[in-house]
Amino acid sequence: MTLASFLSSGTQHAILNGLAFFAFVLWLSLGYWTYKDAKRRLEDPLLIALCTLLGLIPPFLGPFVYMLFRPPEYLEDVRERQLEIKAMEERIAAVDLRCPVCHAEVDSGYLVCPVCTTKLKQACVSCGSPLEPIWQVCPYCETPIEPAVPGTPPALGTRRARRSSASSSSSSSRH
Ligand SMILES: [Zn+2]
Ligand SMILES: [Zn+2]
Repeated sequence: MTLASFLSSGTQHAILNGLAFFAFVLWLSLGYWTYKDAKRRLEDPLLIALCTLLGLIPPFLGPFVYMLFRPPEYLEDVRERQLEIKAMEERIAAVDLRCPVCHAEVDSGYLVCPVCTTKLKQACVSCGSPLEPIWQVCPYCETPIEPAVPGTPPALGTRRARRSSASSSSSSSRH
């Protein structure tokens, strides 16, 4: 064995060792990458473990097989999209006040539809505020709500009369 051939065989050995080491590091890195990627896309720990195993075995081929079958979206993107959809639905529900006859957009404070003049809400006889159908009392002036009777004159000044009678009764009870 000459010195030159010894050197060359040693160099060959070193190159092969280096390549094997590089392949080993690459194999581990791909397995780690598969684990990290699966963790961002999957919730089930068992599935994440299986994907990581696939990322390691078969070596180098596993990660590509995983890439073909992995879920298309990150979990955080799915959650973000669900939140956006929910917010959008809430926004739509908030603005979707429409006239039952002509479906024109109406405000919650409208008494009649401005487009087709359909009566939307009853007005408080005392303060004229729009009332919801299920209310028993006007929340703005405390006037009890009676079912609408056609021909009943609007009781103007009821509020002042109620107020003065209430104050006089309270003062009389005190003295
Ligand atoms: Zn209308
Ligand atoms: Zn009122």
